[in-house]
Amino acid sequence: MLLLNPKAPVRHYADTRSQEIMLRTIQFFEGKGKRRVKADDHARVWYADFLEFQKRERAFATLLTPKGYGDADARWDTWRNCEFNEILAFYGLAYWYTWQVSILGLGPIWQSGNEGLKRKAAQLLQEGAVFAFGLSERKHGADIYSTEMTLTPQADGTYRANGEKYYIGNGNVAPMVSTFGKLADTGEFVFFVADYRDKHYRLLQNVTDSQSYVAQFALHDYPVTEADILSRGQEAWDAALNTVNIGKYNLGWASIGICTHAMYEAVRHAAYRRLYNMAVTDFPHVQQLFTDAYARLVAMKLFALRAADYMRSASPEDRRYLLYNPVVKMKVTTQGEQVINLLWDVIAAKGFEKDTYFEMAARDIRALPKLEGTVHVNIALIVKFMANYFFNPATYPEVPQRSDAANDDFLFHQGPAKGLGRIQFHDYGPVFASTDLPNVRIFRRQVDVFKQFLMTATPDASQQKDTDWLLALGELFTLVVYAQLILENVGIYQVGDDLTDQIFDCLVRDFSQFALQLYIKPSTTSRQMEYCLKMIQKPAVDERRYQSVWMNRVYALRDEYEMEA
Ligand SMILES: Cc1cc2nc3c(=O)[nH]c(=O)nc-3n(C[C@H](O)[C@H](O)[C@H](O)COP(=O)(O)OP(=O)(O)OC[C@H]3O[C@@H](n4cnc5c(N)ncnc54)[C@H](O)[C@@H]3O)c2cc1C
Repeated sequence: MLLLNPKAPVRHYADTRSQEIMLRTIQFFEGKGKRRVKADDHARVWYADFLEFQKRERAFATLLTPKGYGDADARWDTWRNCEFNEILAFYGLAYWYTWQVSILGLGPIWQSGNEGLKRKAAQLLQEGAVFAFGLSERKHGADIYSTEMTLTPQADGTYRANGEKYYIGNGNVAPMVSTFGKLADTGEFVFFVADYRDKHYRLLQNVTDSQSYVAQFALHDYPVTEADILSRGQEAWDAALNTVNIGKYNLGWASIGICTHAMYEAVRHAAYRRLYNMAVTDFPHVQQLFTDAYARLVAMKLFALRAADYMRSASPEDRRYLLYNPVVKMKVTTQGEQVINLLWDVIAAKGFEKDTYFEMAARDIRALPKLEGTVHVNIALIVKFMANYFFNPATYPEVPQRSDAANDDFLFHQGPAKGLGRIQFHDYGPVFASTDLPNVRIFRRQVDVFKQFLMTATPDASQQKDTDWLLALGELFTLVVYAQLILENVGIYQVGDDLTDQIFDCLVRDFSQFALQLYIKPSTTSRQMEYCLKMIQKPAVDERRYQSVWMNRVYALRDEYEMEA
């Protein structure tokens, strides 16, 4: 069973405490019930009950305190944090958001050399606090170089902070808001902590109309001492980028959680709805939409799980996660949108009804590709890795599945956030070569043509500066990386041949579509267009395989899960 089923959780954990947190969290939401979850969503009720639950269970304290700063069972363990992410989003994105922005807020703290603040954060976690990441400003969006929050040195050696932050989740309740700014005298970047309870901290508004509090706040002569400073200069800059490197990974899991719940609801509805004396699931096009949605969802999960193995195994010598994490962010979340689109085409009017989970899913799934770096920002990042990925592979020790109870030390010691173009990857060839399935073979041929394209119809200088063109190229590259890690996990999770080939049926079609998009770009040359045409392929048709996936895996979900009322 590859999808989360709260009625039959099967995930393996090395310790009972991890399992206990997941089960109690599921119990909390099932106990709350769908009716109240939906009512709170509609009335935009602040999720005090969930925060009270997590405090009582010390969930964030166990999951978000690195080893050595909390209880014996506390560690930062991406294996278990993945499932916690998934469970929260399965029940509602708002619950996930307060956890996610706590992770972001803790990023600069756990990366800091300020032991006093780390101990304070650990203590606050014990007490049930949540955290906030004060990076964004109203006027500057992704351009954090232009940050205007300023820390001005005073004659007595202290500082005064002045400026505003915008879009800051938990900014209404976080006793430690990790705030990014510049030193007024040197222009150096700085991270310091601010407490929402201080009278110099002015909470101005919730920028959104939702259950979450996404704050605009202002600091007016907010007093800061050396003891409140987390990092400065290059270290502060690296802390900002490295925090986002960690945090952006979670957005993929939010999409997976949302899609999984929506999938159960949609299949159930369609299977029991009768039109013209037959079930909606008897329509061939409905079967096709569901099978596609299911294959895409399993692919999302296989990729995100495998990316975690690389993140947990990362080191100064192995920074492959810096490619895989933006792919989770950009690809898994946009696939999530596609899954919801497919499901919605089936359940149609039902997806608007106020008592469905789907109504929330259809709205919330849109957020994930846009936050913490848009799709564009992430593809712009991803293409930096392309040359080494194709033309300069390296040998690394095999990375196993990382479900062990380790603390992910390296995440808070990532070092300077630069040198991306020098990172090397293991050869993608062997995993494709060792999987002998029709659609994997077709996909492999498409990749070979793409590689020839890069070698012999290499993008010229003006194309390399044209972001619009590079984004189209980046989609093709991203798909190769996506397919590679999916295949690696097919082996690890023993995914059957039928489903694997069905997943590659989708990937072959997507590759063809992206090739067509590159073909029609204004500056694509005729030589490049020839290659694009060769990349456009039809997937291998296999009615038996398709029926097996539909009946045994997708239709089989119809009675598997329904949320308690
Ligand atoms: C609900 C919500 C919660 C949030 N929570 C937080 C939070 O807790 N803490 C926090 O600090 N921030 C938070 N944010 C801010 C969020 O991360 C911003 O959306 C992000 O910084 C991007 O800014 P922007 O959306 O204004 O887009 P802009 O930066 O204005 O981008 C506009 C366009 O320019 C493109 N673009 C920008 N830079 C590049 C580039 N380098 N390459 C290619 N294209 C580019 C973008 O793709 C986009 O199409 C939140 C936002 C929302 C809506």
